[in-house]
Amino acid sequence: MTTTSGEIPFRILPRITDRNVHFWQGGRDGELRFQRCRSCGYYLHPPAVICPKDWSKDIGVEAVSGRAEVLTFSINYQPWMPGLEPPFVLAIVRCVEQDDLRLTTNIVNCDPDAVTVGMAVQVIFEPHLDDEVWIPLFEPAR
Ligand SMILES: [Zn+2]
Repeated sequence: MTTTSGEIPFRILPRITDRNVHFWQGGRDGELRFQRCRSCGYYLHPPAVICPKDWSKDIGVEAVSGRAEVLTFSINYQPWMPGLEPPFVLAIVRCVEQDDLRLTTNIVNCDPDAVTVGMAVQVIFEPHLDDEVWIPLFEPAR
């Protein structure tokens, strides 16, 4: 559960709140978790207090499979900020469970030039802050 270099890079980390703790700490259990409307089954990301589909306030949290598809990506060759060692892949991935359940993330554990649109990927997690925050990243699906 580390990145290609084997080192944990510097990252700007989220502030954990009651509303997003399921997402940022799910990696501790190896689970990618989202809010999900108990009324209509719609996954909500980012977290919200009301379902945008049917206005239900009956919102729970569920783990998804962690499988996703690369929608779009760019390869960064410039060290814009401290942290990730270039070149690295910044991507938007779509979870297989729902078309608009998307994450901006990095594709890791592969050659950046091997990444393609439509590529099947799976989640891995990068721990930070003594395991308080687990950043979801994606690698080629096995
Ligand atoms: Zn709903």
